[in-house]
Amino acid sequence: MGECRMQKMLAFLSLMLVTLPPIYGWGTDGHSIICKIAQTRLSEEAADAVKQLLPKWAEDDLGSVCSWADQVKFRYRWSSPLHFINTPETCSYQYKRDCKDEDGEAGRCVAGAINNYTSQLLTYNSAADKAEYNLTESLLFLVHFMGDIHQPLHVGFASDKGGNTIDVHWYKTKQVLHHVWDTNIIETAEERFYNSNVDGMVDAIQQNITNEWADQVKRWETCSLNKTACPDIYASEGIKAACDWAYKGVKEVCT
Ligand SMILES: [Zn+2]
Repeated sequence: MGECRMQKMLAFLSLMLVTLPPIYGWGTDGHSIICKIAQTRLSEEAADAVKQLLPKWAEDDLGSVCSWADQVKFRYRWSSPLHFINTPETCSYQYKRDCKDEDGEAGRCVAGAINNYTSQLLTYNSAADKAEYNLTESLLFLVHFMGDIHQPLHVGFASDKGGNTIDVHWYKTKQVLHHVWDTNIIETAEERFYNSNVDGMVDAIQQNITNEWADQVKRWETCSLNKTACPDIYASEGIKAACDWAYKGVKEVCT
């Protein structure tokens, strides 16, 4: 590929915009949409726990806290590697091989973080809860990481840092590929299809859940092997989507 960086073809990105469900962009709006939908689908017991654990300023709106984990990345520097997974340039994911930070510490990736914060939250209302954990922070991390792991380039190749070193054009704007998937796709979809109204997009996705995707819902709600959390399934789907969609068709461009 020489010295040039890769460029995603404008036409290909436009095509993706109209062919993909608009659920794939994980900037502030993407996280908020995910959490708004999740909150409507909680069991009574879980909804009550979330209500108790949410900070006052959230005013019982889970959607309003879902980007908190991005805001504290600098204060909690240790948390940065917990937002993603890098694979060694392969389109498959293995927990043992891939779930580690740059120093090789096992479990320090978004899948490990989901397991960890799920375990912490299961201590809710027990003695360990008060003694060991700040479960409000555990909740805020978990809801954010559940969003991140579903953004295809949060499970991407180590060599390009999940698309962060790949320059592309999003229409007339130069962006890195990762940002296109985090933010641009979703914002453009909001503008074009929902009059820049986030709630319109939430409604459309919820309607899909009750209609078009209804037969998939049971599968989303259960993990294989009776596990409580199933981040490995999401990560495997993520790297596959990254290869099938996000990286596909990228072309080198000189800067
Ligand atoms: Zn994140």
